[in-house]
Amino acid sequence: MSEIIEIPYISGDGAGEDIWNASRESLEEALIKGSEGEKRIQWVPLLAGLKALDKEGVLLSEATIETIKKHGVALKGPLTTPVGGGFRSVNVYLRQIFDLYTCIRPVRYFKGLPSPLKKPEMVNFLIFRENTEDIYRGIEWKEGTHEARVFLSFLKETMNVSLPEDTGVGVKPISRGATRRFVKWTIDYAIKNNRRSITVVHKGNIMKFTEGAFREWAYEMAGEYTPPVTFDGQNGTLLFNDRIADNMFMQVILRPEDYDILLCPNLNGDYLSDACAALIGGLGVAPGANIGDHTAIFEPTHGSAPKYTGKDMINPASFLLSGAMMFKHMGFDRASDLLERAIEETIRDGIVTYDLARQMVGVDPVKCSVFGAEVARRIGRKY
Ligand code: NAD
Repeated sequence: MSEIIEIPYISGDGAGEDIWNASRESLEEALIKGSEGEKRIQWVPLLAGLKALDKEGVLLSEATIETIKKHGVALKGPLTTPVGGGFRSVNVYLRQIFDLYTCIRPVRYFKGLPSPLKKPEMVNFLIFRENTEDIYRGIEWKEGTHEARVFLSFLKETMNVSLPEDTGVGVKPISRGATRRFVKWTIDYAIKNNRRSITVVHKGNIMKFTEGAFREWAYEMAGEYTPPVTFDGQNGTLLFNDRIADNMFMQVILRPEDYDILLCPNLNGDYLSDACAALIGGLGVAPGANIGDHTAIFEPTHGSAPKYTGKDMINPASFLLSGAMMFKHMGFDRASDLLERAIEETIRDGIVTYDLARQMVGVDPVKCSVFGAEVARRIGRKY
């Protein structure tokens, strides 16, 4: 009898359903094969996003929250944030309620992926994005509202700062406590996983007391470690340095081999993940993890791509790779490796969906479901 491993999942909105249908078998096969038949997945389906709004009248129900809390882990497809109507992003909300303060987005080149770079094989970064602060706290007021006027008059009367009356305002909070715990998590991860370097990516030259402070607190935290964390990287130690964000965007294109872990405040991490994904084929191969002290949610970087809903076209690789990250987090390393290698082999064999095929010469795209089936077949072949 194999052990049943319950894993909650949210299939997601838009093209999320296609991705889920294409991925399920590979995930199940990977755990069975990776545990030599000793473990198998029992999926726990959860509603969130548009489907939950339709069935339960809310984007995120208490039942969904409670189930994720109980299991401490979930695999999540993309969720649509309805435009207007005051809806907040369920994706951002989930990160906040579970305090998933570390977001990890690996950007790794696989042979066969299209890339605008001359030496794409040099691309192997981990983007670490602080997940709870910065402008993502959503503290902002629309131009002309009572709140915006109150804020503007506070600035004028108390701080002697005058802004035009038709100004919309937002607040960018970055705190020492949240920065330090995130940096500590990242350094501990880097040491445990034998990474080479950590580069803080900030715009501290302009935003001195938010991004500048983020840089300062990051160095402060790093300074509390003894080697292997050093500021010169001598003798194979873990190098801790920093780059100004605009320069970093240039560096990842011109000198990708010089970078390893990129440690970012929330907004920089968001921008940089999509830009780096473009170096290795795009959002179709960009997985992600959101991790807190008690819960972790694994999800692709991309959104619900609504225009591809039900077309069986979208690339399931980012969702599958997010599943591989989830397996690793759960201690199922072999299942994680099997899944990742099968995805790599499928791409190397020239079996790719439209998003990659259109960047390649003479390659016909396969459907989302076909890509998923090919990955599952390659996992099966290992035995
Ligand atoms: P998106 O990532 O959904 O899609 C942008 C474009 O990228 C698509 O039109 C498609 O061309 C391409 N793309 C994305 N994923 C792909 C894949 N797997 N394979 C191939 N091509 C892919 O971004 P958007 O259109 O800005 O957002 C759509 C909805 O998704 C919005 O409601 C947004 O709020 C939401 N969203 C959700 C998440 C999340 O669930 N974490 C993240 C971003 C956006």
